[in-house]
Amino acid sequence: MGDLLKGISSFRGAVFPDNSALYEKLAREGQSPQALMISCADSRVMPETITQSGPGELFVCRNAGNIVPPFQTMNGGVSSAIEYAVVALGVRDIIVCGHSDCGAMKGLCHPELLEPMPNVAAWLKHSHAAYSIVCEAYPKTIEDRDRIRAVAMENVLVQLDHLRTHPSVAAKLARNEVTLHGWFFDIETGNVLIYDGTASRFIEIEEGHPLPVAVTGREVPHVVPTLAAITAE
Ligand SMILES: [Zn+2]
Repeated sequence: MGDLLKGISSFRGAVFPDNSALYEKLAREGQSPQALMISCADSRVMPETITQSGPGELFVCRNAGNIVPPFQTMNGGVSSAIEYAVVALGVRDIIVCGHSDCGAMKGLCHPELLEPMPNVAAWLKHSHAAYSIVCEAYPKTIEDRDRIRAVAMENVLVQLDHLRTHPSVAAKLARNEVTLHGWFFDIETGNVLIYDGTASRFIEIEEGHPLPVAVTGREVPHVVPTLAAITAE
């Protein structure tokens, strides 16, 4: 803990004074972050560092396995963070960011590791579809390390699907007011792979190229088709 205390002291004495005007403005005017990022709680995955974001720029929700439980009436921390970001803050981009060497994904692949952690085991059921996809649809011969990486990538897509079950997100997608992004951070290389929904794969970003997105909004028709119109087609 000594290092953390030194960090607080250094922030207060050296970092904050250089940015005090920004902090004062944020305190006075409130936050207006440009995106909501749902990432793993892993200490090696630092959303603000990866994106080089400053105070007030990124609304972050972190948990084991960067999971978004499907919408349900029972209250939950992740659901509340999503609703607040979308409805109150008007965030227009939501990123689900997975990563390499994820302990949660290792647990999914090796359930015996989860035996002493019943809460983690129950939480990871929200990722079980990712595990099933890799077990059933990927080659059976892939090595354990690659299997865990594949599960982590598929998990990003499963959580994006879950995001769409949240009424606040579904409504904004239908008004074309929100875009969903799937990212994957490689700890070893520092690369961030981005899911391209059109190509259905993770790709490396190239500077100057438009950012691929996973799910774009759509414009719903302003007039509900009548039964007669549907029959005529
Ligand atoms: Zn993780």
